[in-house]
Amino acid sequence: MAIEFSKRVERTPAYPMSGAQALPEDIVLMASNEVPDAPLPQVLRAIEGVIGNANRYPDPTNTKLRRALSDRFDVPAARIAIGAGSCDLLMAAGDVLLEPGAEVVYAWPAFSVYPYLEAATGATGIRVPLNDAHEHDLDAMLKEITVATRLVIVCNPNNPTSTALPLDEITRFVEAVPRHVCILLDEAYCEFNTLDDPDASVDLLKRHPNLVLLRTFSKVYGLCGLRVGYALCGDPRFVEAVDRIRQPFFCSIPAQAAAIEALKHQDVIAERVERTVVARVEMESALNDLGLEPAASQANFCWFALPEDGPEEADVVKGLAERGVLIRGGTGQGRAGYLRVTYGTPRDNDRFIAALADVLGR
Ligand code: PMP
Repeated sequence: MAIEFSKRVERTPAYPMSGAQALPEDIVLMASNEVPDAPLPQVLRAIEGVIGNANRYPDPTNTKLRRALSDRFDVPAARIAIGAGSCDLLMAAGDVLLEPGAEVVYAWPAFSVYPYLEAATGATGIRVPLNDAHEHDLDAMLKEITVATRLVIVCNPNNPTSTALPLDEITRFVEAVPRHVCILLDEAYCEFNTLDDPDASVDLLKRHPNLVLLRTFSKVYGLCGLRVGYALCGDPRFVEAVDRIRQPFFCSIPAQAAAIEALKHQDVIAERVERTVVARVEMESALNDLGLEPAASQANFCWFALPEDGPEEADVVKGLAERGVLIRGGTGQGRAGYLRVTYGTPRDNDRFIAALADVLGR
C-alpha cells in the first residue's frame, strides 16, 4: 500500500517553472519578471542588522512593516495585510472567500497562479478572454458576475501580456461591481505603469470596502528571493480573515527588515522605473525591426506573437536557452505561439535580440 494524495494535487496545474534552478553560469535570466539589480547596500545592511535574532520567531503581526506601509500610503495599518510574497495573499484570499459553489471571475491569459484558487477551494473559475489588444475586457467580465460570484481579479498591468488599463476604466469597473463581490486588483507591476500615478488606485479604497490592492516587494523593489507582499484593503475584516486562517510567522525576520528599508529608497525605485521605460522603448523598436509586434507594455516585460511561418514556440525557447537566454514561452502562460520576455540590463536585452534574430533566421 502506498500513500494516497488528495484530489487537490491532481487539480492543481503545474507552475511553468523557470527560476534559478541548476542553470549554467553564463545565462541571462529574462523569464521571471525580476529586476536585474542587486539589493541595495542599505537593504543588505538592514538584513545583517537583524539576522542575529534568527533564533527567535519573527513578529507575527508584522507591526513595523505595516506601520511603514501605513505611513507611505496613508492607509490605516488595520487595513494592511502582509504575505510571504503576494502569491501567499492571493491564495489566502481564495481561502477566505471561495468554496464549492462559489465563482471567481478573472481574465485569461492572466497570472498563471489564478487557476490554483479553483484547485485549492473547489470554486468554479470563470475565465474571460482578453480583447484583441491583449487587455482585460472589463464589460465582458462584469457580465459574468452572478449571485455566486465571490471574487473578481483584475491584473493591472497584466501578466503575461504586459498591458494596462487606465485608472478611469478601472474606477468605472470598481463602481459597477456589486458590493458582495470582492475585487482583487493585482498590482504586482503597478510601479512600472506610466499611464497613471501608481498610487492613485489607493484612493479608491476609501469608497470601496470590497476592494483589495495586491502588491509586492518582488518586482520593482527587487526582493523576490525574500518573499514579501502586501495588500491594501478597503475593509479591515479582510485582513482579520486572512490573518486568522494562515499559518503564523509566514514573513521572516530578514524579509520584514529588508522591506522596511527598501521603502525608504523611493529615489532608487523611480530611477529603476525610468530605466525600465527606456528598455521598453528600445526593445519594442528592436522587436519591430525583426518584424514582431509586442503588445503595449506598461510592465518590466513584453509579450509578442511569434511569426506563423517561423519555428515553433518550444524550438524558439530552446534555441534561446542554447544561446544563453532564458525566457518564458506562451504555452505555460495560457497562449501558445507567444513569448514573454523580461527586460534585463541593456547588455542582456541586446543579447536576447541577437539570439532571437539568430533563432528566427532574420
Ligand atoms: N501577481 C502577478 C501578476 C505576478 O506576476 C506575480 C509574480 N510573477 C505575483 C502576483 C506574485 O509575486 P510574489 O509572490 O513574488 O509577490
